[in-house]
This record gives sequence, C-alpha cells and structure tokens, in this order.
Amino acid sequence: MDALNETHDPDLRSWVASANVGDSDFPIQNLPFAIFRRRGTDQAFRAGVAIGDRIAAVADVAAADPLAPDAAAAARAAGGDSLNALMALGPPAWSALRLALSRALREGSPAKAALEPVLVPQADAEYALPARIGDYTDFYIGIHHATAVGKLFRPDNPLLPNYKWVPIGYHGRASSIVVGGQPIRRPVGQIKGSSDIPVLGPSRKLDYELELGLLIGPGNALGEPIPIETAEDHLFGIALFNDWSARDIQPWEYQPLGPFLAKSFSSSLAPWVVTAEALAPFRTPFVRAAGEPAPLAYLDSAGNRDRGALDIYLEAWLLTDAMRRADLPAVRLSRGNARDAAYWTPAQLIAHHTVGGCNLRPGDLLGSGTLSGAPAEEAGSLLELSQGGTQPITLPNGETRGFLEDGDTLTLRAWCQREGARRIGFGACSGTIVAARSAA
Ligand code: MN
Repeated sequence: MDALNETHDPDLRSWVASANVGDSDFPIQNLPFAIFRRRGTDQAFRAGVAIGDRIAAVADVAAADPLAPDAAAAARAAGGDSLNALMALGPPAWSALRLALSRALREGSPAKAALEPVLVPQADAEYALPARIGDYTDFYIGIHHATAVGKLFRPDNPLLPNYKWVPIGYHGRASSIVVGGQPIRRPVGQIKGSSDIPVLGPSRKLDYELELGLLIGPGNALGEPIPIETAEDHLFGIALFNDWSARDIQPWEYQPLGPFLAKSFSSSLAPWVVTAEALAPFRTPFVRAAGEPAPLAYLDSAGNRDRGALDIYLEAWLLTDAMRRADLPAVRLSRGNARDAAYWTPAQLIAHHTVGGCNLRPGDLLGSGTLSGAPAEEAGSLLELSQGGTQPITLPNGETRGFLEDGDTLTLRAWCQREGARRIGFGACSGTIVAARSAA
C-alpha cells in the first residue's frame, strides 16, 4: 500500500473547485472515507469520500460511472452504514475503488454531469462512526508523553524498563467511542484526595489526549500472528482520535490492572478515515537514536526500517465558552509531528498485538497513545501542558486552564505535507464538554 500511483500525482485536479485550493484537507489525492447523511434527515447513513468541501457518496459514484469489476465489488461492500465490509476486503480492492473514485472526480471526467448535482456539502452533513468497532486497544507509543507523565507520577523513575522493548497497551472500551462532533459529558467517579476515604464526584481534571486511531482491515485467525512483513496489509486507514481522560480518577484506580473508568466514559473518533494508500507519499524511515535498543526480530523488518513511520503534523485547538460568546477564534494549544512522537510504527503495533495469537477483526481500532513531541510546547495533553494542573496555561483572552472546563470545545487537527506531494488533511475531531450528571 506504500507504492505511489496515478492517484498520488500532485498535479491532479478535481472538477470540484474547492478541492483544488492549496490548503484544502481534501484534495483529490486524499479521498478519505466517512459514514454520513444530510443533517436533520432520516436518510440512511452511507459511505462517502471527501472532495474539497463536498462529499461524494460511493454509491452515487458507482451509479454515475460504470466501474471496473473489482472497483464495483468494493463499492458494493461500501454500500452499508459502516465501512466494515469494505475494510474486510483488503488492499487490492481498496486500491481499485480509490482509482475509480479518483478518475470519476478528476477534471475531464464524464461522471461530472451525473455526480455534481448529488454531491453533499460537508456543512450540511452529519456523521456516524466510520466503523462498527468490535474491539478497541489503546497503545502508549508517545515516548515523550510517557516520560513526561511518568515524571509526574514517579519523578525518580519516569520511564519503566519495559517501555523500549514492549509496545505498551491496554484493552479499552469500544461501546463508548463516539464520532467527532458529539458532546462529551464530564464523568463522575471515585476521586481520592488527601483523606483516606475517596469521594464520588465529577472529575475536576478532565483532559484530552491527541492520538491517531488505526482502523484495521482484514483480520487474522485466532492463534495465527500477523508477521510484521505483511502487517500493513491489515491497516485500512488512520483517523484522528481523542482519548478523553479524567486525571483525578486515573491515579486512584489504575493500579494494579491499568486504566479503567478514567478512560472509558467516552473517546472521540474523527469522521474521516484517511486511507493507508493516501498516506503513501508521507512514509518515512523508522529510526532509533544511537544508544536505543533495537527492536526484537518480530518487530523488525527491512520495510519497516525503510518506511514504517509516518510524517503527520498534529495540532490541538481550544475554544472556551467565553471565547465563543465573544466571537474569538480558537487558540492552538500545541503543534507536533507523529514522526517525532512515536516510538513504534503501525506495523509494529499490529505485529505485536497478534504475536500471542490474539485475533484482530475488520473495524477494530488501535489508538496510538498520546503523541507529544520532545519540546514541552508540543505536548498532546493538558496534563503535560499545565504540569498536572499546577501551572495553568493563560489563554489570549486572559482565561486560564489547568484542565478542561464545561463548555470548552477541544479540536484535533492533522495533515501531511512534503515536497513533491499534495498536502492532505485529516479534517477535525472535536468535542464540547457538557456538565456532569449529579453524583448523588
Ligand atoms: Mn490514550
């Protein structure tokens, strides 16, 4: 999936004019998938690709343009209200459909006449989760995040000795993952202060985690590991992912078995899934700095060393309720890059997840863990930016934030940009905090 082909040609232009604007997240070289419908209708949710500020439904493209048989089969698999059946097909089918979509949407396509009137403006769309997520695993591959958080919890011993050998992860909760744009209710939980007795109450340390979500394509049979050499054949695509976290519930409950209710109240997955194929121009070598241990053999391959990592810029933006009411723009909290933040690659995560025999299934979600850069200002959570809340950050309007307040809208953004390639983006993954239910 990492070979370049005609769909990556930086000179390709779409007959949808907004796709040709230089900083559009969705030029014709991207073609990310979502599950959408016109907002406020009871239409069935269906699969579409973003093109500029519009959405082209896959079924509409298939109806407008006689597709090659392999692309037509893939379009039929995308005919339901989730992408799971398409995800299950694997790279040749995905690639055939991408080529057909690219040809239908590029300048000069005869499909324009039939397709143009049925495009849906993104401004008029609402989204469902792109997949029925059977299982969700959250990794912890952001080494600068792991080090910074470790320092807050264990000043003398920030990074545990397993970190540089094992891609650390835990099994998360799939049922509470919502599509970006849905409100996030502040959780209630057990919080332990200085008293010996914990209290049940609303979290006062609600935080976000800037992550990427890997969406799995074809799965593996129970007991049959996926070797790293073919691991990327199982990666459908990547979406922005916010693993909201309650930092006051977390330290009391997480030992000895790991994160639980501090994480499982909600996570937000962006509506748009950028395919692995679209990311091909932005692959980058997996390199370990001098003195770092080499991965064990099952986590190492020539392909992974050569191009296993991803060059993806990452940002977090905050709009408080007061800013919204004063018509002020959102403020950027951080900017970093996944290449600098991640200690492991997608192929390594898939190989490691299955090495013991665990089976992945189409639509499963692997969170990367918080992707923080080495510099403090590249941190992907407020826990890091505010030093556990002890050094609140000051916003341009004078407000301060240690953690998120009710009414805050947190938006994640990401994009890829490189010489010789067309810039592509991931859209946005937003959530607005609403007040907790009564703990009584
Ligand atoms: Mn996380």
